[in-house]
Amino acid sequence: MRLRMSLTQKCNLACVFCSKEGLGKREQTMDSEDYKFVIRSVRKYFDEIDFTGGEPTLSNYLVDLIKEAKDNNYFTWMDTNGIKLGKDIEYCKRLKEAGLDRITISVLATDQQIYNDLTGANGKLFYFNQQGLKNAVKLFGKNVDINTVFTKKNSQDMINILKLAEKLSVDLRVLELVGKYDKTNNLYVPISEFKQIMNLNGGTINKKTCDEEYFVNGIKIMIRLPAGLGEDTPEPDFVWLTPDGYIKNVRGEELYLLDEIKSRNKQELEKKINKFLNL
Ligand code: SF4
Repeated sequence: MRLRMSLTQKCNLACVFCSKEGLGKREQTMDSEDYKFVIRSVRKYFDEIDFTGGEPTLSNYLVDLIKEAKDNNYFTWMDTNGIKLGKDIEYCKRLKEAGLDRITISVLATDQQIYNDLTGANGKLFYFNQQGLKNAVKLFGKNVDINTVFTKKNSQDMINILKLAEKLSVDLRVLELVGKYDKTNNLYVPISEFKQIMNLNGGTINKKTCDEEYFVNGIKIMIRLPAGLGEDTPEPDFVWLTPDGYIKNVRGEELYLLDEIKSRNKQELEKKINKFLNL
């Protein structure tokens, strides 16, 4: 099972569809030692840690926590908008040296105006996003994938995103827009249109990850299905930990763990996690 560990609520972009998964109820309260305690304490429940945010590269703890996770034999993963990786290749090297195994970079468009419209970016941020992808591929090779969200704004750019994935030999993950009942309503397009644009036929469902998988010119395209929410979709294989110490699942259930984390009470922490995971 995977732990999506949110390190900060901050982000340097403001995507119109942001799910704000790192957003907690309280101000950030976990420090580096708290996260390390969690990493050391929960290995028996999780074999992967996926560092997220907000934007995880804005956290000063990231490099140290990757090291801690590797020392405890986790597979380590990071979800990022790639901007810091594009600004600073030395930083990419530090992530690699710390033991980061895999990076997912969000690429919402190959066109600057579309990117800016979807993310609220300006100036050189689009360039840094593109450069971040290149820097990551230079250092991590095929252990990089592109994440994108299918919207009315970027639907016609999807072919170019696929070509970019082909050029760099990386996989492509595609999400249907969520939050379609609020301000993103006018951007929503059903994922079936993505399949039509890409002319996708004969995919398979990966029961482990809930992804629907296709192959185009050797590139794997994974359409992210709503884990555990649909009738036929499998139970999700991940939970979140927020910076204010809540463990959460895709059904919106949550449990507050901060007291046990702050008091370094591993026994009580395990009791609560057992209860949350129904073990
Ligand atoms: S990059 Fe991610 S965390 Fe930042 S605003 Fe966009 S979706 Fe939200």
